[in-house]
Amino acid sequence: MSAELAFNRSVDVDYGVAEEVAPGVRRIVANNPGPYTFLGTNTYLVGSGEIAVIDPGPADADHLAAIAAATRGERISHILITHSHRDHCDGALPLQRRLGGDIVAFGPTGTARGAGAPGLGDTFVDKAFRPDLPVGDGDTVKARGFALDVLHMPGHAPDHLCFALVGKRTMFTGDHVMGWNTTVIAPPEGDMGDFIASLERLMQRHDKVFLPGHGGRIETPQRVVRAYITHRKWREQNILACIDDGVSTIPRIVAKLYGALDANLKEAAALSVLAHLEHLNARGMVSAEGATDKLSGFYVRGSGAAPSS
Ligand SMILES: [Zn+2]
Repeated sequence: MSAELAFNRSVDVDYGVAEEVAPGVRRIVANNPGPYTFLGTNTYLVGSGEIAVIDPGPADADHLAAIAAATRGERISHILITHSHRDHCDGALPLQRRLGGDIVAFGPTGTARGAGAPGLGDTFVDKAFRPDLPVGDGDTVKARGFALDVLHMPGHAPDHLCFALVGKRTMFTGDHVMGWNTTVIAPPEGDMGDFIASLERLMQRHDKVFLPGHGGRIETPQRVVRAYITHRKWREQNILACIDDGVSTIPRIVAKLYGALDANLKEAAALSVLAHLEHLNARGMVSAEGATDKLSGFYVRGSGAAPSS
């Protein structure tokens, strides 16, 4: 089983320019490139005349000015947030102050937020974020020119939403499925069991195009989702094989599976392995021993059955 995922990583981007990426959908890429954001956060403008802004991106003056310029003469009815990570939601209030629109998001989750790694931790999550209109799975956000069905897709973040453009077989996937890389799942912010269940929900659908929070259009959604699931199963098998070989702590598993990494990526890899171990633990397939914290215990095989997801 191969873990290689084929991504289109072309780096052809014009920051601040609204580009039509699907009928009735324009994209502006924010100039916040980085190890977790690829070239930057994608902001989508849906509709014409009355506009939904999906993920206003970071609170960046040039990016907000670009949104304002692209929507001149139009009205922003809604500002939708896929999840309350700062690269997606920090621009919401400044944009609302400038151009109006109700802020729509899943709202507080009631679960622990944040993750203990640079770039993934508390600094990355806006714990104070509150929408004007909290929505949940099955809701629809409508204005004159568009209707967006809301799907709650936890996994990358507990409040993660995807938005399906009604009648267009087009899905805004945020960071649940991205166009350039696999998604970071870092507990407690990330939950591998939820993530895989959310991927399996996407497999049941017949979307034609995914428009992700980072990276380009995904033209083969089913194939990419299947590859995401295959990649996680392959990683899980590798982790079980490590434990069977007596490689039973997270730092040793990371060293064996990922080789040499810089410090930041090593921490992200450790959290990703932890996410898998928690998912295995939830199914009784491994258990932790001697742990003072979740990242430092020994893991041994449990009595659970063979992995099914
Ligand atoms: Zn993001």
